[in-house]
Amino acid sequence: MEWKIGVIGTGAIGRDHIRRLTNVVHGAKVVALSDIRPENAAGIAKEYGAVFYETGEEVIRDPNVDVILVASWDPTHAGYVLQCIRERKYVFCEKPLGVSAKECRNIIDAELQCGKRLVQVGFMRRYDRGYRALKEIIDSGKIGAPLMVHCCHRNRIPGPQHTTDMTIKNSGIHEIDVLRWLLGEEYETGQVLTVKQNRSAQDGLEDPQIMLLKTGSGVRIDAEINMNSHYGYDIQCEVVGEKGTARLPDPNTILLKTDGTRSCQIYSDWSERFIEAYDIELQQWIDSLNQGALQRPSAWDGYAACVTADTLIQARLKGTIEPVLIREKPAFYE
Ligand code: NAP
Repeated sequence: MEWKIGVIGTGAIGRDHIRRLTNVVHGAKVVALSDIRPENAAGIAKEYGAVFYETGEEVIRDPNVDVILVASWDPTHAGYVLQCIRERKYVFCEKPLGVSAKECRNIIDAELQCGKRLVQVGFMRRYDRGYRALKEIIDSGKIGAPLMVHCCHRNRIPGPQHTTDMTIKNSGIHEIDVLRWLLGEEYETGQVLTVKQNRSAQDGLEDPQIMLLKTGSGVRIDAEINMNSHYGYDIQCEVVGEKGTARLPDPNTILLKTDGTRSCQIYSDWSERFIEAYDIELQQWIDSLNQGALQRPSAWDGYAACVTADTLIQARLKGTIEPVLIREKPAFYE
């Protein structure tokens, strides 16, 4: 079957997903799209033979659209996802699922009421080969029980709209999700450390920040979130266990030796670093639609990540260690 997809948001990742759904993924066709910038979206619609709509709401309502992919601005995600649930249409929503835990709770309540899982969240690191290999090692017990995790998320430079809260809610949220998936447990407390600030950080932006998390079993996590590395997009993760350590591999790039130097490329952004993960993620989403059984990350995962992000932001503002209060998980999301 070919799923007819409506895409909302044709910025950087929306365009990339449209290309992917058209040229890489089997069983999908983009038939409609919209963006807040019509001049941008109308041209893309023409290029891909899709219908252009002025609003995301019209994309969702179009009877020719089977499923939706939301790749618009963060504050619009929850509204579109709720409309999809009302229309009983499957929706793949780029992270974050909402801009607050409250928005995500509304989505969970709507999905529970609907009685069918319709929502998948775009935490693509779960589909990255390196992270999958790391999870296999942890689950195999080879390094014993994890005790600590050291990680960092470095962006070359932030986007023009980037804020101090977004460092956690938009970027750090990847660490929040992938670490609870890797470790298979929820967080108990969160704290944010302010460190010496980068003099090149944009006006008012606190950068870098260190997120400290403790899981229910006591695993300690430190995650450097650094928006102005200048040198590249660099994602690192090392898990320290009772009997050994396991480190996320760097992506495969050519090791070049020339003119008395050894060098290899460092990617400049997420679209290069995780290109394969996005391909696998969307192919598996389409395959899961065919099987009628959505995979994770679910709306619950989107909610748990948002609760943790909200907690960390409060912890940063108050300078305290805050409890991460996640409500009891309904059996529906097991
Ligand atoms: P972007 O380049 O700024 O694109 C977002 C697009 O959505 C822009 O064209 C924006 O228009 C548009 N938009 C804003 N409000 C809208 C509305 N009400 N209805 C429809 N469109 C609207 O940002 P991006 O990098 O593509 O990011 C888009 C989303 O994907 C974000 O939520 C981001 O967190 C997520 N993302 C995820 C990953 C990942 O690794 N999974 C990577 C990148 C992005 P304006 O330009 O006028 O604001």
